[in-house]
Amino acid sequence: MDHLYSLTLGEKLPEWHLESIFGDAVPSPKDYIGQPLVVLFFSLNCPGCKGRAIPFANRLVYELGEKINVLGVHSIFDGNEIPMCKLEEAREKFFVRFPYFKDQNLNTTFLDFKAGGTPHWILVDANGLVAYSMFGSDPNNALMRLDYKLDEILSGNVLIIDEPTSQSELTEPEGCDLRLVSRENENLGDKTQRFKNINSMLNWNNIIQFANHGNPIPSKRVDKSEAEWKATLSPEQFQITRLKGTERAHSSEMCSLFEPGKYACTCCDTLLFDAEEKFESGTGWPSFTQPVEENAVAYHKDASFGMVRVEITCNTCDAHLGHVFPDGPAPSGLRYCVNAVSLKKVG
Ligand SMILES: [Zn+2]
Repeated sequence: MDHLYSLTLGEKLPEWHLESIFGDAVPSPKDYIGQPLVVLFFSLNCPGCKGRAIPFANRLVYELGEKINVLGVHSIFDGNEIPMCKLEEAREKFFVRFPYFKDQNLNTTFLDFKAGGTPHWILVDANGLVAYSMFGSDPNNALMRLDYKLDEILSGNVLIIDEPTSQSELTEPEGCDLRLVSRENENLGDKTQRFKNINSMLNWNNIIQFANHGNPIPSKRVDKSEAEWKATLSPEQFQITRLKGTERAHSSEMCSLFEPGKYACTCCDTLLFDAEEKFESGTGWPSFTQPVEENAVAYHKDASFGMVRVEITCNTCDAHLGHVFPDGPAPSGLRYCVNAVSLKKVG
């Protein structure tokens, strides 16, 4: 199904056909050789574009603007043309940080590039070859995949080459475009450098880096056998923390508990979250914007159930806690979605 709505990966990006909105010169794909380029097909008729895709592209410019380029292509495939003045106003209205152009005849480039709808993302590597093509604005799927792919491209040593690499080397396995980074291949020097740059508050970029390249070192470790855990935990606690289960939404009173205090791992008593960072997410699971310490929680890519998510575990004893998502409140933008069973209120 995917290939119907995708350019062939590893091939050179075709020439686009764009018209200027603000009177600036229309660039060519060749102008971007040397740095990765994210092309976003968007439409002002599309709520997903306005609510999620444009903010996400803005964030890419804000966080990676020196390493990548972002180009917007306004395309219409539903027939409802947008007047030029609205296209101009959009720059202020949505704080658009990236240059954007109008697709010729509403959707010529959209069709040439086999976009699956709006928003559609095309990631082009520094050689001008298509690395990724994806429809959607779901933060836990399309956008996270784009983040992973960008991270992969930016962390690899991409050389400028003249000829496209052969197709067979670049074709992704169907249904999965993530390659878990083997811990053995890690360069400790790089890791120190990376972690040094992290501020006291974790953001989504930090989470992606942990999930891709390995977690911070915990202050201590608690390792027990399955039998030992079974002896100390209730069956429900064992199922959720040791076997990665999920409790039913709204099954705990902890979700609406906001009095001051701290939350510890139900298995090993390590402090994980503070009530100060707790918020009402409406999901039915206790939700936090930050852990108490940068090294309290560990992050792992989780491709189960046909989704790509980041699983969170206790970094001390590996208890499954839940998942973390990039749709939390400001300033961190993170939502740690935790099973109440994995936590105990302390203090
Ligand atoms: Zn623990």
